Amino acid sequence: MNNEYEKNKVEKSTLYLVATPIGNLSDITYRAVKVLSEVDFIAAEDTRNTPKLLMHYGIKKPLVSYYEHNKRERGEYICERLLSGESCALVTDAGTPAISDPGADIVRLCIEKNIRVTSIPGACAAITALTLSGFDTKRFCFEGFLSTVKSEKNDRLSKLAREKRTLIIYEAPHKLKTTLEDIYKAFGDRSIAICRELTKINEEAVRTTLSEACAYYAENQPRGEYVLVIEGAGEEETAFYADMTAEEHVAFYEKQGLPRMDAIKAAAKDRGVPKSTLYAELNKG
Ligand code: SAM
Repeated sequence: MNNEYEKNKVEKSTLYLVATPIGNLSDITYRAVKVLSEVDFIAAEDTRNTPKLLMHYGIKKPLVSYYEHNKRERGEYICERLLSGESCALVTDAGTPAISDPGADIVRLCIEKNIRVTSIPGACAAITALTLSGFDTKRFCFEGFLSTVKSEKNDRLSKLAREKRTLIIYEAPHKLKTTLEDIYKAFGDRSIAICRELTKINEEAVRTTLSEACAYYAENQPRGEYVLVIEGAGEEETAFYADMTAEEHVAFYEKQGLPRMDAIKAAAKDRGVPKSTLYAELNKG
């Protein structure tokens, strides 16, 4: 018991990254409540939301704001207090600090200044959505929010089109429709799990396809918070000839020295179609 107590004691000069609920207020650990109750002060991304959480658990602590637009100056200020011996808990808007929020910046700053950082694990929307998706969870790839700059967003999506791992993307409701269309354009039709309002009353995980999702949101207004989980690319989409026309594919083998008929045979084998089908396609144009 004593050892357990020692291990869980809040220490001086330490930044605690404290995961908070992503909707359901009960999704917080005993350790998180203990740390929030015992640190000297709390740095919060949203100083309007966090007091509601603290009040729910009967915690009264001095708060300082720490968010995207004051993170530089406020990060330095928090570090100064940590260096002077105080302990601080960082809580972001929801979920695990440093995942698609300004938490990562203060972690880097603390590491630079040799300040101890520790993480109190808990809810994270990406992992909650992944577990509900039904897709491969052995390997996955978290993209967070896609760029708001159209060209950067499309560049990124075209790079991701051949990604074999399950893909996780965060999106705001007002951009959901366009983002689904952009993903559909870049990936073609694929299975997707649209996870909405996780842990809340209206929680939903709709397993569908990109084409059906685009059709649905062309008619219906997105509401709430969303995580998109997309099945990784299959063999066909990642094959070296995926972007080649039939003629380019055959030419590839010809360049390697195969006579035309053997090149057609090899390309047909790759594509899993009879030689005659490929031959007919080549002669179409
Ligand atoms: N740090 C957070 C985490 O651990 O998940 C993520 C913060 S990021 C600023 C906020 C985004 O997370 C939202 O736009 C949404 O994509 C996703 N998100 C957060 N809570 C969610 C929920 N209850 N249901 C679905 N998505 C959620």
